[in-house]
Amino acid sequence: MTTAQGLAAIGTIGVLGAGQMGAGIAQVAALAGYQVRLADVSLEHATKGKGGIAKLLTRAVDKGKMSADEREAALERIHPVIGADGLASCDLVVEAATENFELKKRLFADLDRACREGCILATNTSSISITALAAVTKRPELVVGMHFMNPVPVMKLVEIIRGLATTDATYETTIALAQRLGKTTITSKDSPGFIVNRILIPLINEACFALQEGLGSAVDIDTGIKLGLNHPMGPLELADLIGLDTCLAIAEVLHREIGDDKYRAANILRVHVAAGWLGRKTGRGFYDYRK
Ligand code: NAD
Repeated sequence: MTTAQGLAAIGTIGVLGAGQMGAGIAQVAALAGYQVRLADVSLEHATKGKGGIAKLLTRAVDKGKMSADEREAALERIHPVIGADGLASCDLVVEAATENFELKKRLFADLDRACREGCILATNTSSISITALAAVTKRPELVVGMHFMNPVPVMKLVEIIRGLATTDATYETTIALAQRLGKTTITSKDSPGFIVNRILIPLINEACFALQEGLGSAVDIDTGIKLGLNHPMGPLELADLIGLDTCLAIAEVLHREIGDDKYRAANILRVHVAAGWLGRKTGRGFYDYRK
């Protein structure tokens, strides 16, 4: 099958996990004209994900970036459903549930059972081995990493990761799909954190060490990196955007899998996660968003 045929065979995209990343992926897929099935643990969770998309699209209409008709048409293409079983009719699924290896292994086994033969199973994991997730399925050749950046509608990059068994056809179709969604791709080896998080998470973790050692306030650290290194966001505010639970989960994968203590997570990160201060999504992280 050629890449064009592979891409043409994709009409319905499934997204498993309707949190900030899953909703963003559903949004860009629907805007690109795909039918989207958006799944989470319950219909309430999936519908809440769609509700967040509706709000963002309303804002885009208010700003004159899209017509009300385009908003309606995109929303009509997004169908909230429950779990992997709700994705049976999809041609490609992007798994975007919580960053946890045991959970993702379970979800890949469920997707493999539920999805039709030939359906590509992609994962938006930030750090977990694509090969290991592929190994729990009977279709490792159709499993691939498709790592979108946050916020998905804004960020241009998608990192593509091949597992050991991923075929050229799966890899090339996934790249073509990312491009069809308006994204630029890079390819990373299947290594903990791939390219982007292998470099980003140590930066965020070092900012956490700087904060816990009292080098400066959160604002001083973030301002230092923004104005001193010309980054659009400081590492602590970026960690709050990503989710501190996700940052900690990635740091733990880097530490465990690479085995170098330089990747050990800062205690202040663990303490914030233990407190449930996960960043913007819970209203409080290194900064307070409750106002
Ligand atoms: P999130 O906490 O916003 O959302 C996770 C979603 O997964 C929730 O809606 C939750 O209900 C759902 N979920 C949990 N268990 C589930 C199950 N058994 N079945 C179906 N859904 C389930 O997290 P997020 O930030 O959207 O991250 C999702 C994935 O994307 C993770 O793998 C993360 O590493 C990756 N990612 C995150 C970012 C980021 O900046 N946050 C960037 C790139 C990739």
